[in-house]
Amino acid sequence: MRALIVSDIHSNLQALDAVLADAEDAGGYDVVWFLGDLVGYGSDPGACVDRLRALPHVGVAGNHDHAVTGKLNPDLFNGAARAAALWTTQQLSDDAMQYLAALPEVREAGQFTHVHGSLRDPIMEYLISEPAALATFGLMETPFCLVGHSHYPLVWCEEAGGATVELLDPASPLQLQSDRRMIVNPGSVGQPRDGDWRAAYLLYDGEAGGDGGVLVHRRVEYDLAGAQQGILAAGLPESLAIRLGSGH
Ligand code: ZN
Repeated sequence: MRALIVSDIHSNLQALDAVLADAEDAGGYDVVWFLGDLVGYGSDPGACVDRLRALPHVGVAGNHDHAVTGKLNPDLFNGAARAAALWTTQQLSDDAMQYLAALPEVREAGQFTHVHGSLRDPIMEYLISEPAALATFGLMETPFCLVGHSHYPLVWCEEAGGATVELLDPASPLQLQSDRRMIVNPGSVGQPRDGDWRAAYLLYDGEAGGDGGVLVHRRVEYDLAGAQQGILAAGLPESLAIRLGSGH
């Protein structure tokens, strides 16, 4: 079984389409695992919802999905994110809103648990500290957990008495072993924040490698100028277009 693992698409259709094409070139996939934040920030929320729904997929909700559907107060966001959430709410069809509102917060698929933030706070917690990683390891009932939210492509490995973290490297596939527990973030498709503007994602091959399969991190260039022009043409904050170019 092969899975395309994507998170934090954020209404960036140009980036999502580049990822889908790149994943096909890399051997294709049987299912998409989506880790939350399909919308917010970018200018094509409806088209991104349609793209994902046209594919065989499962998904979980992110904080931006909740803000757009009224499950989370957008006032908790900074100014640009709040403006984008309110704008997105006006763009989406009732059908798309119902789809986003129905996304669960946590899901299990085989050896993997899927969640946007963390297992102790599925929507809001950033899994970027050792205490946060240990708390989620303590709640995991599967060997592996996939998260999003921080927009950093990284892997936490459980060690005796602690946890270590590394950024993902496209040149170093992750060999998964069910007796070595990991929390992995694929990075963000639509708004990377690790200093690399290219869309980030993971491909999973359950038959390769050890008894847990193999995860390959990939980065792909996309029509950055098109995404930026879409943000400006929609009247969304200019800062949202600028940050796409810097990858921060
Ligand atoms: Zn996000």
